[in-house]
Amino acid sequence: MMDSSLNIKADLHCHSHYSDGTLAPAEVVDLAYKHEVNLLSLTDHDSIDGLDQARAQAEHYGIHFIAGVEVSATWNQQTLHIVGLNIDPNNEVLLQGLASNCALRAQRSNDMLNKLDAHGIDIRQAVEKQLPDGGVPTRTHIARALIDTGAVKNMNAAFKRYLGAGKIGYVPSEWADMRDVVAWISAAGGVAVLAHPMRYRLSATKLRMVVRDFVESGGKALEVVTATQDAKQTRDCITLVQDNQLLASTGSDFHSLDQPWAVLGRCPALPSSVQPVWEYFL
Ligand code: AMP
Ligand code: MN
Ligand code: MN
Ligand code: MN
Repeated sequence: MMDSSLNIKADLHCHSHYSDGTLAPAEVVDLAYKHEVNLLSLTDHDSIDGLDQARAQAEHYGIHFIAGVEVSATWNQQTLHIVGLNIDPNNEVLLQGLASNCALRAQRSNDMLNKLDAHGIDIRQAVEKQLPDGGVPTRTHIARALIDTGAVKNMNAAFKRYLGAGKIGYVPSEWADMRDVVAWISAAGGVAVLAHPMRYRLSATKLRMVVRDFVESGGKALEVVTATQDAKQTRDCITLVQDNQLLASTGSDFHSLDQPWAVLGRCPALPSSVQPVWEYFL
């Protein structure tokens, strides 16, 4: 048990190479230690495979580690990301849910690679060589393969030209329904957090509808602080939290060392006007 009067420096959203991060779980924790994070969760896309390695390294440093995952979900045809914090990684309901999302991922990745191949871009090997055993394929891997093979110069160009919605390499995916995803996380004893609410580019009205449905399904928290948003967006998140009696989470969404806009442990502090999500599990 952590003394919650301690000065908490939390990062509750980041990725390892078990999804689309570039570092091994232990390396993510090394970086967290270097950046003086004392409360950390690893939240790979639809995967819990990095949690044991991360936990072992966190124990080595005395960092409080929270088992986490970022689950892909669908709400009215809109993809949402739901972070589960403090989950039981052995829970069968959650494991089955993640397995079904991973099956969709494998199928979609294959379909996208076939589409690109039909346009003369064969990057199947360049994608496969990035994935560790059991690694979860994402569009980020395909983007990196497009860069490695010289098809594009950078990630942004990869999404803009090939991988963004409607582009020639894009295949939509119908992830599990948001309500089911929240139910899996709850079944595993975890707290469901709506990740980076401002990144979906929804109207204020639509976002309020998402949050209402999320709360009705058992969602408990909103990511109020993430690396890639401005002060106004953070204020809008605070309002949503207050209006819906939610808890507030924070996380960098760190993926790799070459993205200076999302550095592990370098997010603004949570404002004092909200209740931190860790009060739920510390
Ligand atoms: P997926 O879940 O397979 O659709 O992949 C989504 C991932 O792609 C996100 O988690 C981000 O890490 C990454 N991503 C999405 N859009 C961009 C972008 N414009 N530039 C860089 N990375 C992106
Ligand atoms: Mn990602
Ligand atoms: Mn996300
Ligand atoms: Mn993420």
